[in-house]
Amino acid sequence: MIQTSPTPADIEGAIRNIADFPKPGIQFKDITPVLADARLFAGSIDLLTAGFKPGMVDAIVGIDARGFIFAAAAALRLEAGFVPVRKKGKLPFQTHEQSYDLEYGANSIAIHTDAVKPGSRVLLIDDLLATGGTAAAAASLLQKVGAEILQISFLIELKFLGGREKLKDYPVSSLVVY
Ligand code: AMP
Repeated sequence: MIQTSPTPADIEGAIRNIADFPKPGIQFKDITPVLADARLFAGSIDLLTAGFKPGMVDAIVGIDARGFIFAAAAALRLEAGFVPVRKKGKLPFQTHEQSYDLEYGANSIAIHTDAVKPGSRVLLIDDLLATGGTAAAAASLLQKVGAEILQISFLIELKFLGGREKLKDYPVSSLVVY
């Protein structure tokens, strides 16, 4: 049987909306059905890495935790290294940290100081762009280690939250936009 490559609409069809999770008023985008479907998972990596070939990128940076899944698979696809940006306190070596505001309070994320060589060409990947605070903080960590961000890619963008505004210094790509 001939299988065509999945489209963003196919991926959107598998994303499950969960009302009021993890708290009232949030509609959680559950990507586990995409991951569980081999064709959709592979197709999402094809789409997230579109426009890039092995040799064009030194490292794929994934954001804790669902970003790791897509970034690690994209790294194998592009024959690049994988670099984690983790929640504060999880990385064992010396780190740079960056805090960012949440609706209530603040969060901090971190990267190893030697995560990439200065001048490395990187793609930054996360599952979802909401307010953009997380990705903007990750981008400033990448500036601190001297990386060149070629693109920031998301599976999902919640456009009504305006997260792209915080990322306007970089090319941003998202597959499924709400
Ligand atoms: P933000 O910093 O507001 O752009 O939030 C992005 C981060 O929070 C991503 O790492 C997402 O995994 C997570 N996130 C935010 N909103 C949602 C949502 N509605 N559904 C699933 N994950 C979300």
